[in-house]
Amino acid sequence: MANKTKELFLKTADVIIENKNYLTELDAAIGDGDHGVNLARGFKKLKDKLENGSFESRSEVFKLTAMTLISNVGGASGPLYGTAFLNISKVIADSRLDLEDLVEISEEAIAGIQKRGRAEAGEKTMLDTLIPASESLKESRDNNLDLDTALKNCLQAAAAGMENTIEMQATKGRASYLGERSIGHQDPGATSSYLIIETFIKNSLK
Ligand code: ADP
Ligand code: MG
Ligand code: MG
Repeated sequence: MANKTKELFLKTADVIIENKNYLTELDAAIGDGDHGVNLARGFKKLKDKLENGSFESRSEVFKLTAMTLISNVGGASGPLYGTAFLNISKVIADSRLDLEDLVEISEEAIAGIQKRGRAEAGEKTMLDTLIPASESLKESRDNNLDLDTALKNCLQAAAAGMENTIEMQATKGRASYLGERSIGHQDPGATSSYLIIETFIKNSLK
């Protein structure tokens, strides 16, 4: 599983790097215009480390990702994503994942972000993509849906969550300094979270 996970993060890094300008433009509207630059810097560094390393387990790849993002992404998003991936590294198994595992992983990631950032749903942050995605996985589990349907629903919930940030007023992070003027713009962190989830689902983290 270590190699598959390495490939998954190489792909994720490419997606973030491809979307660097888009994410930065979103952040220019309501923040300080560096979200894409911040993340691209961290994921570029991660690519170097992944390409030059060999790994024993899925957990080890998540841990390396966490540490690399924490120390190379300037700005709020680095430690938040880093903590999410670090928490996942502590629980993720090296065998094929089922829906119950994915629920646990998503909850651990969110718990890490909330412990550090103290934000709740509805504050116009990355959590507004991640929480609906996690809730969707839980709902699918409770209804005994098959994994493919659950992942499809999860991706839709993440997209809706991201889009819902447009109408929200930011009450956490830099965008909160704008008050009501933050309304009408999609949150950059919610957008990068969607891109990460989309890449994970399309390249099936199973
Ligand atoms: P900075 O704001 O320090 O320049 P970035 O631009 O890299 O950092 O990241 C901004 C994104 O971080 C926001 O769009 C938002 O989604 C997310 N964010 C900011 N503060 C928090 C928080 N307390 N909890 C969750 N996410 C947050
Ligand atoms: Mg910023
Ligand atoms: Mg900044």
